[in-house]
Amino acid sequence: MGSSSSEEPKILILSGPSGSGKTTIVKELMARQPVPLVKSISATTRSPRQHEEDKLDYYFMDRPTFERKLAAGEFLEHAEVFQTGNLYGTLWTEVDRAARLNAWAFLEIDVEGAMKVVERYPHSLTIFLKTPSEDVYEQRLRNRGTEDEETIQRRLAIARRELSFADDYRYQVVNDDLERALDEISKILLAQE
Ligand code: 5GP
Repeated sequence: MGSSSSEEPKILILSGPSGSGKTTIVKELMARQPVPLVKSISATTRSPRQHEEDKLDYYFMDRPTFERKLAAGEFLEHAEVFQTGNLYGTLWTEVDRAARLNAWAFLEIDVEGAMKVVERYPHSLTIFLKTPSEDVYEQRLRNRGTEDEETIQRRLAIARRELSFADDYRYQVVNDDLERALDEISKILLAQE
């Protein structure tokens, strides 16, 4: 693929600390489709959480499988997230799937991965989702109730680090109110079409 914008696939990247309400935003955008969106399903080496399904939430795979795909050039980007030794990555096949439908490939990935995609495709539309305050963020993380204290503390530290990358995104949206944030993102998307 070349480097001009017309040859670039349409890629929408949403990042934000876990607990920023990203999951709900993604779900709602996919339901509402303000513009045609195809959610990229990431590959990961982490274990499925309760209620998560293989090939729906993630392509869950063991590390040797992930590394084999990596070596075979099957990933647009990948990153080791949370220093837990878990790898996450976007498969080219996911971007192709969206392009075939003339839709945006919707990537919900971390800041490191986002920057790698932007390096490759500078016209990618990047949105950073922020919480109104760190207190709200911590509360949401706790309310989710899926992680132990050590994990929560680690995620808070990661979130602080992630927030420092917000300025590298084309848009920053504060998730103070779900409907308002969705409206703002929808308008950003509609303005690109
Ligand atoms: P979780 O384990 O909570 O589902 O996701 C942890 C983090 O991994 C989130 O910040 C999410 O954005 C990031 N992530 C999920 N999929 C990918 C991916 O394909 N690539 C990268 N770089 N990060 C991802």
